[in-house]
Amino acid sequence: MRIIEPHIHMYSRTTDDYQAMWEAGIRVIVEPAFWLGQNRRYAGTFYDYFAHILEFETERARKFGIDHYAAIAVNPKECDDLDLANEVIDGIDEYLDHPRCVAVGEIGMNMNTENEIACFRRQLLIAEQRAMPVVIHLPHIPKKEGARIAVDIIKAEGVTQKRIIIDHNTEETMEIGRETDCYLGLTVYPYSKLNPERVSMILREWGTGQVMIAGSADWGVSDPLSLIKVADYLLQDGHDEATINGILHDQPAAFYGVSPNFKPDFDLTPVPVSEYQR
Ligand SMILES: [Zn+2]
Repeated sequence: MRIIEPHIHMYSRTTDDYQAMWEAGIRVIVEPAFWLGQNRRYAGTFYDYFAHILEFETERARKFGIDHYAAIAVNPKECDDLDLANEVIDGIDEYLDHPRCVAVGEIGMNMNTENEIACFRRQLLIAEQRAMPVVIHLPHIPKKEGARIAVDIIKAEGVTQKRIIIDHNTEETMEIGRETDCYLGLTVYPYSKLNPERVSMILREWGTGQVMIAGSADWGVSDPLSLIKVADYLLQDGHDEATINGILHDQPAAFYGVSPNFKPDFDLTPVPVSEYQR
């Protein structure tokens, strides 16, 4: 199967993860810009990080046979320092123009503060102006309120809904997301967020159209093979292969395919580890 992982933070993962992902059939991945675990103090440290995921990480992935793309933005957790966030966004164009950048993201909310909302709106409008896909992060805790805020802003600003994915949905936010034509993401973590059983029930209730599943693996307890495990469970649980192929390949390909930079190469050959040069 040709599998696309639509949301993963390889910056925080090891080469063992790349090998395991390749062996499991994952060939194309998208890495949104995220919070590094400690708030940055300078615009320059954001820019160095953007360059890292656009260039170094793409090269690292290629050696393991994986075609890696990035999404670039100031993440919600660092938007509360609004002056710094705005300074970063003032200089973000050259990173959005990078040939490996396929989306603006992740933007959205963490605690639904006014500064987060201001940053979200500004970056959402930049994406609309550039006709780029957008990855929206819903909060972990005030999730339903965050979904409401995001959807109300999307509607009020009249931005193109089919170019947006609202990610990290649960049972309580699907109804709000389905008010729009946005893609909806389900994130599966080993111990929190969703598990495969809940994903299967959500898909039965809300349909599989424009839905994507991601591992969103990062520094925390997470699993870069999460979406494979969900796919196996969905098959056992009676979802057909075309549906699963839609979720693992067709829907992410259609979503990111709006970007002219997204030209997935499923046929990269891994470099033998003995020849791997640091
Ligand atoms: Zn993420």
